[in-house]
Amino acid sequence: MSGRMTEYHMEELACPKCGHKHMWKKYQRINVTEKQHLKEDILKNRLYAFTCEECSFTAPLTYESLYLDSKKKLTIFMAPVMSAEVDQELARLNRELSGHKRIVDNINDLKEKILISDMQFDDRVIEIIKVMYLGQLKEEMKEDTMLNILFDYYGNDPCFLVFFEKKGVGRMPLNLEYYRGISAQFEKKIRDFSRDDFMKVDMEWARQLMFDKKAADKKRTDKN
Ligand SMILES: [Zn+2]
Repeated sequence: MSGRMTEYHMEELACPKCGHKHMWKKYQRINVTEKQHLKEDILKNRLYAFTCEECSFTAPLTYESLYLDSKKKLTIFMAPVMSAEVDQELARLNRELSGHKRIVDNINDLKEKILISDMQFDDRVIEIIKVMYLGQLKEEMKEDTMLNILFDYYGNDPCFLVFFEKKGVGRMPLNLEYYRGISAQFEKKIRDFSRDDFMKVDMEWARQLMFDKKAADKKRTDKN
């Protein structure tokens, strides 16, 4: 079990702005079942972030790190860049761990995965809904550029935060009936496109699944 405990080491880091030297905790592994407060630290941008005590410069700190929620059987590996070493590490972890295994390349996506699991949603359904919602935002996107769309919740109300370049942040509520409908509609496809290994589940993944469905539907129609 020791391989699943929270683990960090101290590292020296010079502020990129003023050069002031800091010692900071670099987490190789975070087990939030063991250390619950670390989850809050991630969500509040206190953990994967750097703040200079000298000049107050702040910046996100993205590095290879494993997020484990043993209770929920959720594993998220954050790797800003994929490499042969990362692949090796993922293969090793895959043999060791069961449950949902995800890979992300930035902190926002890591936080989003945590929030989705908090609300007991399936991130695969969420990514499909994002692609669906984008179709509804076509008018807005004519005059503005959408930068990102992320799942969030307020109290018990799930929603999507949509980040526009000019207009700023907009909020779209997530309708539960709609969620259930999409979940049922894509159930088989989702199974076909999933594996019991580390998966990158993002809008690109959802588009592949949806595009494939359209191609398959077309084939069926052509045959009739
Ligand atoms: Zn500084």
